Amino acid sequence: FVTSYNRDRGIPNWVSWEVDASWLGSATRGAFQPDPLVPTQWYHVSTDDYTNTGFDRGHMCPSADRTVTELDNDSVFFMTNIVPQSGTLNSGQWESLESYCRTLVNSGNKLYIYSGPYGEGGTGIYGYMTSFTGNKVTVPAKTWKVIMVLPAGTNDLSRVTTSTRCIAVIMNNDQGPFSSWQSYRVSVDSVEALTGLDFFSNVPVGIQAVIEAVVDNQ
Ligand code: MN
Ligand code: MN
Repeated sequence: FVTSYNRDRGIPNWVSWEVDASWLGSATRGAFQPDPLVPTQWYHVSTDDYTNTGFDRGHMCPSADRTVTELDNDSVFFMTNIVPQSGTLNSGQWESLESYCRTLVNSGNKLYIYSGPYGEGGTGIYGYMTSFTGNKVTVPAKTWKVIMVLPAGTNDLSRVTTSTRCIAVIMNNDQGPFSSWQSYRVSVDSVEALTGLDFFSNVPVGIQAVIEAVVDNQ
């Protein structure tokens, strides 16, 4: 996976990865650790920073999407892939969507996924917080995800058409109550408007315009 890490927020701006059957195996979960690739003079977020905050260490690229080797799995436990996420969200509808993605993989698809946090201020089990560790780790207000679904194969860019399925969601980082992940679906355009990012930027603009305007309803 690739992470765009934000020094001032102590969390990623976005994380992106692909997942198909070749990424899925039986490796066991690693341990959260500071990312050694963060420049030495920057603050290195550690797993202890999250302890007793009331927020989970929420993976952007999920542990279960990287299970072929222990090394692959360890990599998604670097804190540059983690944001403070309410446990209700993390183990609820966020996880439900992660699991749904793997069912798509297991039925012969390859996914391109972007995920990230938005804004500041969420509600964990001890209440509302905007940051912790002396403002070194921002608690986001929302987390979002954008997914492109292609049949497994090669030359992926050339196989994207105006009917390629895309799924996008925006979920609040709070205590809910939550409903099914499907009820949080929005267009990719909505996540682009929220974040200022341009997803699928290598796809011809005429195709982006169509697939990014649709709200998935499958
Ligand atoms: Mn999670
Ligand atoms: Mn785009």
